[in-house]
Amino acid sequence: MPLDLLTSIASVRARLDAVRVAGTTVGFVPTMGALHGGHGKLIEAARRDCGSVVVSIFVNPLQFDREDDLRKYPRTLDTDRDMCERLGVNVIFAPTVEEIYPTPPSCTISVGHLADHLCGPRRPGHFESIATIVTKLVDIVEPHRAYFGEKDYQQLTIIRTLIGDLNIRTAIIGVPTLREADGLAMSSRNRLLSAAERPLATALYLALGEANRLILSGVTDSERVAREAAARVPARPGLRLEYLEIVDPATLQPVTRIDRPVRVAGALWVGTTRLIDNVASAPPDVATQ
Ligand code: AMP
Repeated sequence: MPLDLLTSIASVRARLDAVRVAGTTVGFVPTMGALHGGHGKLIEAARRDCGSVVVSIFVNPLQFDREDDLRKYPRTLDTDRDMCERLGVNVIFAPTVEEIYPTPPSCTISVGHLADHLCGPRRPGHFESIATIVTKLVDIVEPHRAYFGEKDYQQLTIIRTLIGDLNIRTAIIGVPTLREADGLAMSSRNRLLSAAERPLATALYLALGEANRLILSGVTDSERVAREAAARVPARPGLRLEYLEIVDPATLQPVTRIDRPVRVAGALWVGTTRLIDNVASAPPDVATQ
């Protein structure tokens, strides 16, 4: 089937109503475009599970807390379209900002304590904006299944909770993080790194790996794990660890004693680019979640 690129909400609804009436399962992969292999993994998972795959490409201005980040965010619709075609996507939904927000929304989704830690306090309003756009997109697409990356673990957890709390009839599927050969998590923002910055960007993954190693070796004091892991980030100009935290995988609240599965997450500034990453970990003889 040919790939349709649709820009209006009405056209997506009409197209997918017909798909659902035919009894076909709809899989949905929401993205901000500048597609890479990580997005490809989500699309492949949707392709395996569902008869019809929809990818949205929308750089949601409301979730950006810095004007320069929104301005610099890579936009590559032509190559995104090629990649979607190659991977067998059926519909790309690429609306304009005006289509999605004819007026600034008065009503938004609040995410409560799930935004109290990790990226939440560093990006005020970010997760409320994500919860709101995902709710809107899910209402437009009405997918049976929607795919999100573990790379954005706080986002995935907030969306899982939101879908449950609001009784939305879409199954949320988490997909493991795809990494470059040196461990750097694939991200659209990696394109913004200079050749000199690129090798430094693995520092976050190495710090998370160190945290995992300490936890696996039986260290239970979370403060010590975080401190020793953070010390792995080299003192280099332009490199700054914004946070490295150890949280409960479901509530995203800090854990003081690591006696159960945890998520270790961090954010690293490399020059003017902010990168995030996380890993699952658990004490020896306890399975990760
Ligand atoms: P974005 O376009 O950055 O908003 O990402 C769209 C979706 O792709 C989100 O669910 C991300 O978590 C997911 N994603 C981004 N990078 C990766 C990666 N390296 N591996 C797996 N999923 C990813």
